[in-house]
Amino acid sequence: MGWILIVMFNRSRSNLATWFTLSMGSILVIFAGILYWREARDRMHSFDQILYNTSRIMAAGVEDYIYEGQQHTDLENVPVLGSDTLPLSTDLFFARWYTPHKQLLQFIGAVPPQQLATPSGFQTFTVNTQLTSTPIQLRQLTLPVYQEKRLIGYLQIAASLAPLEEPLQQLRWFLVVGVPLALGVIALTGWVLGGKAMEPIRQSYNQLQQFTADASHELRTPLAGILSHAQVGLMEPVDPQEQHTRLQIIAQVAESMSLLVSQLLFLARHQGKLSPDMLKTVDLVQLLHPLVEEHTVNATQNQQTFLNALPKEPLLVQAEPDLLRQAIVNLLSNACRYTPAGGMIELCLLPQSHWAVIQVRDNGIGISSQDLPYIFNRFYRADRVRSRQTGGFGLGLAIARQIVEAQGGELTVVSTVGKGSTFEIKLPRR
Ligand code: ADP
Repeated sequence: MGWILIVMFNRSRSNLATWFTLSMGSILVIFAGILYWREARDRMHSFDQILYNTSRIMAAGVEDYIYEGQQHTDLENVPVLGSDTLPLSTDLFFARWYTPHKQLLQFIGAVPPQQLATPSGFQTFTVNTQLTSTPIQLRQLTLPVYQEKRLIGYLQIAASLAPLEEPLQQLRWFLVVGVPLALGVIALTGWVLGGKAMEPIRQSYNQLQQFTADASHELRTPLAGILSHAQVGLMEPVDPQEQHTRLQIIAQVAESMSLLVSQLLFLARHQGKLSPDMLKTVDLVQLLHPLVEEHTVNATQNQQTFLNALPKEPLLVQAEPDLLRQAIVNLLSNACRYTPAGGMIELCLLPQSHWAVIQVRDNGIGISSQDLPYIFNRFYRADRVRSRQTGGFGLGLAIARQIVEAQGGELTVVSTVGKGSTFEIKLPRR
């Protein structure tokens, strides 16, 4: 393969790999993002729930009453804020109590502003402390507290988000390392898959190139023959007899070229399976009878014996009769060509339960085991010299197999050098 093609195939392969990595990578990144977001949201939700429960427990300890028109708030029994209470299991960073007029009444922890300025609800913010070198993140809850539908004050508590940050930090590390690693694996998989996807294209491209090269090579030899005979024929002086011979050779060569071109066209046109509406019910006995007659005459001329074994009853298959006849003719003419004078050729039709089997046997030169796997390949000839002499291009068996397979059948061969060959067409019975 030329280097331009190698570059082209590699570019297509890396394009496939890139698109694969991009699409799978985006899915992975989106998935990891959603995973992180859900985890962070759920953890924050539980954290808020604990903070809220703590504030409810604390609020329940507040005693508030009106005495002589004056509001009195007693925080002695409030956990954390009160002086003589059981400690809470939660580590609060600070706790503050503000009057209904948002004036500071009592606090624990950092010194707060005298006037409550923050709205009710949850907030997150960062503070610098002398205790830690790095700023810490706090989650704060400001809760208006009511007693018998009367606002008795505001409770504000805050806790460090450190216990929540740690597992999230771990998850972030896992994603930061894991996602690029997974992307690498995806890219590698994409490259391997790209290679696998390109393989059939590469193979069929190679086959096509080989076929074109073989076809041009086959046409070049007869063309060169035509050209040389025409050039010599154009030279003076001209002997009419010699001129005639040259024209005859040119005509013969052109005829063989025309046969090659029609075979090539045939191979190109009849690719793949035949559509069911092209198939007809064919009686193989009727189809084979004219071939038997024709080949009996030919064999006698070539001093060969032609035998046949056809059943009396009709044997029906679904086939395209002209194409099927062409395949059998190819096998029969090979049998005649590769069997010396005095040899025997036989055409048999065997009905089996599901198959109709057509056999073309000969006791001719046979095919060696080295050549046997390749004889159905286009332009393959076991013995190039002999085949060329007999006018073959190495396309007859390729055409026969293509025809048989297009009709849902199989074409196989068994052969021994010096003993002969048996070609077998198996077609599904109707
Ligand atoms: P060709 O036009 O050369 O006969 P085919 O495709 O028909 O091409 O056959 C391919 C090759 O298979 C032939 O060149 C020949 O070597 C071998 N072959 C085919 N049929 C027979 C046979 N009946 N006996 C021996 N060799 C055969």
